[in-house]
Amino acid sequence: MLASLGLGYPPSVNFIRPACIFVIAVLGIESGAAADQTIVLKAMRMFDGKSKTLVQNGVVIVQGNKIVDSGSNLPVPDGARVIDLGDATLLPGFMDAHTHLTSDYSGNYNELRLKRLELNASEMAYNAIPWARATIEAGFTTVRDVGSRIMNTHDFPDVSLRNAINRGIIAGPRMLVATHGIGATGGHFDPTDGFRDFLFGREPDFTDGIADGPDEIRKAVRFEVKNGADVIKAAVSGGVLSLADEVDTPQFTSAEMTALVDESHRLRKKVAVHCHGDQAAREAIEAGVDSIEHGSFMKPETLTLMKQKGTFLTPTLMASEYIMSKIDSYPPALQVKARAATAARSEMFRNAVRIGVKISFGTDAAVFPHGQNAKEFKLMVDLGMTPMDALRSATSTDAELLGIAQKVGTLEKGRLADIIAMPGDPTADITATERVSFVMKEGRVVRNGPATPSASATSATDDFTLPAD
Ligand SMILES: [Zn+2]
Repeated sequence: MLASLGLGYPPSVNFIRPACIFVIAVLGIESGAAADQTIVLKAMRMFDGKSKTLVQNGVVIVQGNKIVDSGSNLPVPDGARVIDLGDATLLPGFMDAHTHLTSDYSGNYNELRLKRLELNASEMAYNAIPWARATIEAGFTTVRDVGSRIMNTHDFPDVSLRNAINRGIIAGPRMLVATHGIGATGGHFDPTDGFRDFLFGREPDFTDGIADGPDEIRKAVRFEVKNGADVIKAAVSGGVLSLADEVDTPQFTSAEMTALVDESHRLRKKVAVHCHGDQAAREAIEAGVDSIEHGSFMKPETLTLMKQKGTFLTPTLMASEYIMSKIDSYPPALQVKARAATAARSEMFRNAVRIGVKISFGTDAAVFPHGQNAKEFKLMVDLGMTPMDALRSATSTDAELLGIAQKVGTLEKGRLADIIAMPGDPTADITATERVSFVMKEGRVVRNGPATPSASATSATDDFTLPAD
């Protein structure tokens, strides 16, 4: 039996809770909990997702899939099951506004490029199962998944993954998916970039997300929404891991961006744009996009425009950090682009914090192994963000960007019971976020204690260690 919770916007996201014991057993989630059982979570500290300070002696009371109360030293209702986490901090489930759960680019670039030509869509989908589990076990109960494509196959592995998670078939975070990112011919998203002309028998078109001109871009948006997109993603400037473009050149005209935003917003979908270059960012912000992803070369005037317009910045610091940690393994042309983007992004991020731009939490998981998303927190704090602001970015700020703030992102009464905990105090040591030990999604305990072995070491490379400083 499946029950849609009728959450409204975004309309194509169905938050579906498994209510059948068989499904729960498949997930490895604790069974035996009645749907309306009251669970009381206790810990020494609590961050509610929006306050400026931690609450001491935090208590969250969960009934069914919802939070019914939260605060300090609340009394335990009669008959409730108590989970006391001791010297730990309770928080709303983390969100990551920039993942690619159906991909893994963290191994050798050239080997993966060849491997992608061998994959069929169903293999791509099966590969994603442990990556989805690694992500939720790391405390990320919601992700915005911003692009999944397989050339010459009209399939949507991200839509399938989202639906399988919603139906309780596999464990993973709630997903808002973008299907194919939209981009220009020869741009960052063109899947034939760097290959000999016509190797794939045709030029990619709007069904692959490749579109030129306002009308074709509208058609690409409509095609993606028809096939299950919750959010629209586009590349409006060049990128690092693409072979045929410069990293900061504009790839859409203002008229194309206006069409992109207008069509998406008419269909009640938000627009996230991949963008490193300053000119492309300025034009995208003026066109009304909801978030700039990466933003490496943005100048202070552009960041000021973002603040005025309320545009979010999703910095994805982990992506450049990881690429730089093994820069010699990339083709020379990509090394030049990665070095330039990384050199620029630290100053851009500091300026964004100083200017007061809304900074969402997003990592580009897939560029680095899935499940290591929380390492982004330390990078944000090292570049001048306070720990509280960093925690807020991954909870209430991301919920606002994703348009689901009425459902998740805080520990307020009436929100879905997406709750995590970690030993220690993340405001005293932000790396505590990397040691999540308890995860609940919609009232069901996904993890209480050590991670599932299959949820770690599932990506192409070993654990990525950040530089010590
Ligand atoms: Zn990305």
